[in-house]
Amino acid sequence: MAQNSLEVGSAKVNVLDDGIFITDAGNLFGPNSKNAKIRGAMHAVLVATADALVLLDAGFGPKLPDYLEGRYELRRDEESLMESLAQVGHEPADVTHIVLSHLDADHVGWALNPPSFPNATVYLQRDALEEAREMPEGDTRKEAVPAVESGVEEGRCELLEGNAEIVQGLRVEVRSGHSEGHQISWIESGDDAALFTADLAPAKIWLNPDLISAVDTDPEAARMNRIEVLTEAEERNAPVVLYHEPRDFLVLIRKTEDGFEGVSWGS
Ligand SMILES: [Zn+2]
Repeated sequence: MAQNSLEVGSAKVNVLDDGIFITDAGNLFGPNSKNAKIRGAMHAVLVATADALVLLDAGFGPKLPDYLEGRYELRRDEESLMESLAQVGHEPADVTHIVLSHLDADHVGWALNPPSFPNATVYLQRDALEEAREMPEGDTRKEAVPAVESGVEEGRCELLEGNAEIVQGLRVEVRSGHSEGHQISWIESGDDAALFTADLAPAKIWLNPDLISAVDTDPEAARMNRIEVLTEAEERNAPVVLYHEPRDFLVLIRKTEDGFEGVSWGS
């Protein structure tokens, strides 16, 4: 089991666990890989700063959404995000801010389907919502639109327009490619930093910038952003949390001949 907590200056960071999904590799890599299965974890990140408790992405939620039945399987032998939250000593009411990297179902669950944190404001980019509105019926991003719209109306959701400081020590940066308005989060305190890449680089294999994903809206933008962001993470020696990496999800980035690799943090 990888280390699942770290300190970033005065901020305390816990990596939570919302189980494992299994899907056809074709859903991620295109139709040529249709017989293979791929599994991914959902490692949401909890950041405790001096005056806020921030959740970065929100897993699949209490159950797999009906429209994904047959396309995804969700396994939670051990725990969901809520148990994982309790294990680090918090309850849903403690969370003050939620940052959604984008609107895919495996990232927004506990924040939107249904809203499970009574005191939290949910932050996402307006561009991510605009893109989702244009998606065809049945698309996972499109399915999130009604929940976001009612959240905005009721004051639970706030739409961002570009890079922003959510609270002191937590800064979002727009890095599109996987989706429009996809945002990553930098946790910063003093000279220390850690990075949540979300689906810009969600697992170790994605540290190869040339990997073209069937699920990236704009593969070239994703590639350029991956190179820039991972270069910065390496230069700053910032630990990176890989959302979909099942086990070795907390890594330091090292440059290699053809891209980057993740070295287990603390090893
Ligand atoms: Zn994802």
